[in-house]
Amino acid sequence: MADVRRRGLLLVLSSPSGAGKTSISRRLLAEESNLTMSVSVTTRPMRPGEKDGADYHFIDGGRFSAMVAAGELLEHATVFDNSYGTPRAPVESALAGGADILFDIDWQGARQLRDSALQNDVVSVFILPPSAQELHRRLVSRASDPEEVVRNRMAKASGEMEHWDAYDYVLVNHELDASVAAVRAILTAERLRKDRQIGMGRFVDAIRAVLDRG
Ligand code: 5GP
Repeated sequence: MADVRRRGLLLVLSSPSGAGKTSISRRLLAEESNLTMSVSVTTRPMRPGEKDGADYHFIDGGRFSAMVAAGELLEHATVFDNSYGTPRAPVESALAGGADILFDIDWQGARQLRDSALQNDVVSVFILPPSAQELHRRLVSRASDPEEVVRNRMAKASGEMEHWDAYDYVLVNHELDASVAAVRAILTAERLRKDRQIGMGRFVDAIRAVLDRG
């Protein structure tokens, strides 16, 4: 019987910080066996509780510029005065192996992926908070950021949200379980798109050949 394989997809999640993207990402990674996280490089300082190589690869500005110059980043952007970028090699090898990759990147990175050679592999989801008040509440209850950072993030949330319309799917994150279920439904449907199922034509032909023999 002809073999059907699947090309991996790039699941891009963007949102203003505090909308719940990190919690949704963690749950997706725990519940979806074929999904791996793209670990970005960044020049921002490590926060308490973060691990180098797991949350980010923490690098200095010189190394970041060298990676950009060498074409080692699939996309890169400046967010909150720090540089962030997606290393190219792990993404290409995961895709080739049929794995799906999750990206927690901002609208600038999402746009670069959509404009890249991998554009047909990109599935993008924008996550919105239920309200401005709820966004503020979530940012304040996140212990790691000082009040000044919270103010800064609130001010920038509007600018990030301006780009919701460029995404394939938009989700208002009222409640974590429901949001995780919604993103998993998107994944399930997108995995079934015919263009991602390599060898499906031969699979159908093989069945039809038997049927047509009578
Ligand atoms: P944080 O510093 O809070 O971890 O992330 C700040 C913002 O940078 C978030 O919106 C996050 O999605 C975005 N970000 C993280 N990694 C990347 C990346 O590799 N590329 C781009 N374009 N944005 C990123």
